[in-house]
Amino acid sequence: MNNFIKKLFSSKSDAAKSPVFHVDKQDISRERSAELYEKAKQYFPGGVNSPVRAFKSVYGTPLFIEKGDGCHLWDADGNQFIDFCCSWGPLILGHNHPKIREKVVEVMQHGMSFGAPTALENELAELIIKNNRYIEKIRFVSSGTEAVMSAIRLARGYTKRDKILKFEGCYHGHVDALLVKAGSGLVTFGETSSAGIPKSFAEETIVVPLNDEKAVKEAFKQFKNQIAAVIIEGVPANNGLLIQDKKFVEFLREICTKNKSLLIFDEVITGFRIGFEGAAGYYQVQPDILTYGKIIGGGLPVGAYGASAEIMSQISPDGAVYQAGTLSGNPVAMAAGIAQLSELAKPGFYKELNDKTAEFVSAIQRYADTHNYSFMIFSVGSIFWFAFTEQCIQTAEAIDPKSMDKFRIMHRELLNRGIYLGPSGYEVGFVSAAHSKTDLEKAKRAIFECLDIVFKK
Ligand SMILES: *Cc1c(COP(=O)(O)O)cnc(C)c1O
Repeated sequence: MNNFIKKLFSSKSDAAKSPVFHVDKQDISRERSAELYEKAKQYFPGGVNSPVRAFKSVYGTPLFIEKGDGCHLWDADGNQFIDFCCSWGPLILGHNHPKIREKVVEVMQHGMSFGAPTALENELAELIIKNNRYIEKIRFVSSGTEAVMSAIRLARGYTKRDKILKFEGCYHGHVDALLVKAGSGLVTFGETSSAGIPKSFAEETIVVPLNDEKAVKEAFKQFKNQIAAVIIEGVPANNGLLIQDKKFVEFLREICTKNKSLLIFDEVITGFRIGFEGAAGYYQVQPDILTYGKIIGGGLPVGAYGASAEIMSQISPDGAVYQAGTLSGNPVAMAAGIAQLSELAKPGFYKELNDKTAEFVSAIQRYADTHNYSFMIFSVGSIFWFAFTEQCIQTAEAIDPKSMDKFRIMHRELLNRGIYLGPSGYEVGFVSAAHSKTDLEKAKRAIFECLDIVFKK
């Protein structure tokens, strides 16, 4: 097939699969982005290197980003946005923060990787451990997925048990054992949620609903002395924002202790986000292992897991649980992490950011309430989630998939008004320190207009 025919062919089959992208006059231009996307589809599956970027559940072609500065983003067509996605959470100081950029450039001038220890690793570890009561030792890796995968292996090695209990609606990266969803019934073995995962792997994972003590108790009864760890997102924030009761989190701590299972907080989003001590500090619950990612790398690829010195002594070369990484503790990535976390450790940082966010979301909630819109914003720290609902949502089951139609309209209209949210109604938004009161005021007005459009249609 020559290239031209191939092109015709592929655009035809694409059109059959996805709805026709129709640009209305009132929509912002996405011409250049559409061109880049066509090209990207020749190189990458779905045209992207991570699936949600493909805009499958919102309107139109994905925006290709050209640059970011502070709370703003610019796409390839020159459109400017106030960004509430913030690279899915890492950019708590906003884009292109001068302190991070300067530190990265300074360190890069001495080389980019050695595969040998550097003082920078000590510096980032010290910054974290001195300001976080919940871990004594840490190991740096290169992504959140890698952190969780290692934490699971550590828990299994430490307890000499195999089974993992996870919650429906929590995402822990693309770890084989955790790409599982609940089957039918209260306590179930996971069913794989991706092709390519052996059934036998999924059978080591038990899936239960969030905020449900009875289901967790039942699982511990059914799998007595087999559960290595219970893993939960610090605050589940990958499938809506499902804020758990403190009582439930405390219950998990107790039942794990009683059964000699480890409690893992996956703090890849919440770590350094809802406070320097993340969800552990927020709930004041001591997990056995914590995982970090996103913010910890200041926008570069860093993950980490930490625990007590005793548990961490199981990791090689001290212990028998193997875990390694060619680029782990990479000096450039450490530099970005040090620069970002140094700002976060300053007194008052979180209070200012969280207060600003609370003011922002409560104004939007008030507007929706005044107009009797079925709309709620769930929020913790500087994380927020727009939900088209009238009732408090704490479990994945409570989210009505039909409400996503409303998000689709909202997302399109927000882009048209210069507001960028992650392209899925299941994703949360983030406020950064770079969002000024004026930016938030502007965003609020755009959101009010969009709510009117969504609910008057
Ligand atoms: C993003 C995320 C991960 C995966 O991190 P990656 O860096 O994307 O591999 C794991 N757990 C949670 C809670 C996350 O939000």
